[in-house]
Amino acid sequence: MSRPNYYVTTPIYYVTDQPHIGNSYPTIAADILARYHRQCGYDVHFLTGTDEHGLKVQRAAQEHGVTPQEHADNVVQRYHDAWKLLNISHDDFIRTTEPRHERVVQMIFKKLFESGDLYLGEYRGWYCVPCETFLAGGEEQKPKCPDCGRPTEWYSEPTYFFRLSKYQEPLLKLYEEHPNFVRPEFRLNEVKSRVREGLRDLSVTRTSLEWAVPLPFDPKHRSYVWIDALTNYISAVGYGADEEQFRKRWPADVHVVGKDIIWFHAVIWPALLMAIGVEQPKMVFAHGWWTHNGKKMSKSKGNFVKPDEVASQYGVDAVRYFVMRELTFGLDGDYRDAAMLQRYNSELAGDLGNLVFRTLSMIERYFEGVIPDPASEPTCPLADGATTLYADVNDCMTSLQFSRALERIWEFVRRANTYVEERKPWQLNKEGAREKLGATMYHLAEAVRILGLLIEPYMPASAGAIRRQLGLPPETRPLQEALQWGGLPKGIRVQRGDPLFPKKE
Ligand SMILES: [Zn+2]
Repeated sequence: MSRPNYYVTTPIYYVTDQPHIGNSYPTIAADILARYHRQCGYDVHFLTGTDEHGLKVQRAAQEHGVTPQEHADNVVQRYHDAWKLLNISHDDFIRTTEPRHERVVQMIFKKLFESGDLYLGEYRGWYCVPCETFLAGGEEQKPKCPDCGRPTEWYSEPTYFFRLSKYQEPLLKLYEEHPNFVRPEFRLNEVKSRVREGLRDLSVTRTSLEWAVPLPFDPKHRSYVWIDALTNYISAVGYGADEEQFRKRWPADVHVVGKDIIWFHAVIWPALLMAIGVEQPKMVFAHGWWTHNGKKMSKSKGNFVKPDEVASQYGVDAVRYFVMRELTFGLDGDYRDAAMLQRYNSELAGDLGNLVFRTLSMIERYFEGVIPDPASEPTCPLADGATTLYADVNDCMTSLQFSRALERIWEFVRRANTYVEERKPWQLNKEGAREKLGATMYHLAEAVRILGLLIEPYMPASAGAIRRQLGLPPETRPLQEALQWGGLPKGIRVQRGDPLFPKKE
């Protein structure tokens, strides 16, 4: 039987930027979805990558005295390093300067031109000459440049337009028929009301741009921003090149994007897909933005949260845990250093770390490290908790409620810690109640095994450590089956390790 497919993407990150929490956050979220669906038995394809064309890249290259391609080649390595450090398990990494991508961009322009959805017109707008930035707005406004503050000039040049206006009704119909297409719901409502106001055709080429994909039928014109960038989601899975792969992977199950680019993903992207006759992705999920200790993060303040720095202090798993636990995915929030420390010490070191450590310590102390037989009490209160847990967590994962899923898992961690206090294994040992003690320790170890499976998408390294400490081989059963209470074999030898999350000051 063939496995169901699951395709998840991150935005492609600009190569003039560098890895920080703003791009690590959606990448970690997509990684959690990918790992979870792999656990559940899906054939997962997880795509990330970099956006490498455009004026900013051209200019940064000039400053460094290298070609734009060399500049992109240098910077892309930062992303590879960051994703490796953060344990990101992407299956593919697309760069928009790759031939497999550029070919598809050109093919799409040709298709749009031939169908009449692309036409030559004139771009008119405000332009900052020194910054070479185009600004929106009518002729009467005369805005100042947002980058340098200098006055702008009225400017016009020939450009190709994508006939976006034609897709207003089809888009509204799409949102009506597939309310999950844009999530969270308040984003869908924002998008819908803007689309209802009407759509203008979109200028998608520039003649002044050098570092961009040329149109095959009019090479003076080069792709300007969005068609090039958005196309990565299909060029990476074989659109126009490998039909078999494309049919297998597309449509994407979820595009994880930032709220700043929701318009492009919820309006321009589906319109473009309609124009070229390609099925729509199932969901576009927009995440919110972080501030840092109450302040907006900016280059000038130099106050970006850098996941590699936090990881060197707390460990990679703690970073992944914290950003998913602290904030409801989809809303804005504040990254407070004090909250990181607090959650680390209480939830990771205190609740989970302590449960694992004391369970294994007691099995070593009372049973010479061998998982005892629970025959005298085949069931326990923890088993009931575990049964409903999977359904709840699965609901949360399919709706990208990461924080809620962790909350649910931690209720179970705390329940298991309470079970230790209720059963008092040290007292059972003193009383010589071996059978009751054995059942208690088996059930605690079983709870630890189940927790290891449930935290794996979030904290893969800690999950691996738990499994090895329990003396178990890698899990091969689909998650739901692996979570059945009693799956832990008796008689195997555990090997307690160091505490998973040593307390921090
Ligand atoms: Zn300027």
